[in-house]
Amino acid sequence: MARKKIIKAERTKKLEKEMLTCTLCGFCKSVCPYFEDNQWDPSVARGKVILAYGLSRGEIPADDSVVERLAQCTTCKDCERRCPSNIQVVEIVEAARADLAEAGRSHPAHKRIAKNIKKTKNPYGEVGKVDLGADIKQAEVGYFVGCTARYRMPEVAKHTISILRKLGVDFTLVDEVCCGSTLKRTGQDERLGEQLMKTNVEAVKRLGIKKLLFTCAGCLKMFREEYPKHVKVDFETEHLVEFLAKKDLRLRPLKRNVTYHDPCHIGRHLKIYDAPRKLIKMIPEAAFVEMKENKDLARCCGGGGGVRSADPAAAQRIASRRVKSASEVADLLVTSCPFCVTNLRYGNELVKADVEVRDIAEVVDDLLIT
Ligand code: SF4
Ligand code: SF4
Repeated sequence: MARKKIIKAERTKKLEKEMLTCTLCGFCKSVCPYFEDNQWDPSVARGKVILAYGLSRGEIPADDSVVERLAQCTTCKDCERRCPSNIQVVEIVEAARADLAEAGRSHPAHKRIAKNIKKTKNPYGEVGKVDLGADIKQAEVGYFVGCTARYRMPEVAKHTISILRKLGVDFTLVDEVCCGSTLKRTGQDERLGEQLMKTNVEAVKRLGIKKLLFTCAGCLKMFREEYPKHVKVDFETEHLVEFLAKKDLRLRPLKRNVTYHDPCHIGRHLKIYDAPRKLIKMIPEAAFVEMKENKDLARCCGGGGGVRSADPAAAQRIASRRVKSASEVADLLVTSCPFCVTNLRYGNELVKADVEVRDIAEVVDDLLIT
């Protein structure tokens, strides 16, 4: 039976004025990947704003249905782009999730993530060491691998390491722990999140790193936007695509139609749009084609914001639509986040579209001439 509980909701209370600017116009319905999936109002931005407002006023109990609806957000930010009142929906959803978490009313899948991180320092609960074949040493360039590349897609990390070696970059890996992205997105354990940030920044500083590279969109967003709010970040942060787009790469030809999926967390959140496109256009003979919905308009892959763990079936259906769009214009779908790659591939299991999904690090390394 659903538990009924009025919670303190201190974080959402601070956003009440903002929530009141929602005119219920429903423009967010046209873009929300979750609403597209289930056509249910509590799952779209305005529905979540109403639920969060109800929680903050003590008018809605934090029962299971509210917990479930507030877990239905990939934090893709597409609604914010469309919202005439400019409501910061992701901030509201994350605040409501954090209020629910404090009251012990998080989605069970999100609770599991926090438990795993506490125990193993990664959201997957992996305990074994993964040997990526590179050292931790003093160097001015560092590579922050991230938990998804380390434990679910080590090929992305290995290709990145190979690229850096081919380019003669003196780099180091970092004695890293989870960046804290999944905790922040799902509202879990803020104190643990801060500990992770401090541990990572200290590990980077110990190695004398001046520039830290990333292949994961979620990790980079954390270091660029969230870390500076809690800890001093006095080194540069770059996604691999930003780093490589500035170089004059010699690449072998690739006769394929290639399209690009903008991961929400480096796309709409960090506005990194040109670098990956510049990089793909460096590939001789590759025909780059945009999907209809690209850059700011890009559709979400469906996996972020804790959705892949809380509602894998929805994550898969949302991803399948994106893969299908890609297959209408190209036979190779490239993206720049291992988490998006895994979810897009998962989506393609459903529709079996005639398109290969690859991370940009895999593609560049395969073609890079030394
Ligand atoms: S677009 Fe903005 S103002 Fe309109 S219903 Fe959605 S959240 Fe409310
Ligand atoms: S951030 Fe994305 S998933 Fe969340 S409510 Fe807005 S459009 Fe929907």
